[in-house]
Amino acid sequence: MATTDNSIDGRTEHCDSCGTDTIHQVSVQLVTESTKKENSQFSREPYRVTECQQCGSRESMRMNNA
Ligand SMILES: [Zn+2]
Repeated sequence: MATTDNSIDGRTEHCDSCGTDTIHQVSVQLVTESTKKENSQFSREPYRVTECQQCGSRESMRMNNA
């Protein structure tokens, strides 16, 4: 029975800086978009932030594409 170590929150994704697939640390951040004054309660958008564990470059992608 193989034991999988899930303690590292990493995913293998393509990194443009490295030009190859590397391990990325993935997290989700709520970013407040303060451009709109109305609906300020609902203006926090989840962004998926990935950080290459090889070169350290970060990329954030908006999860809700309107
Ligand atoms: Zn990289």
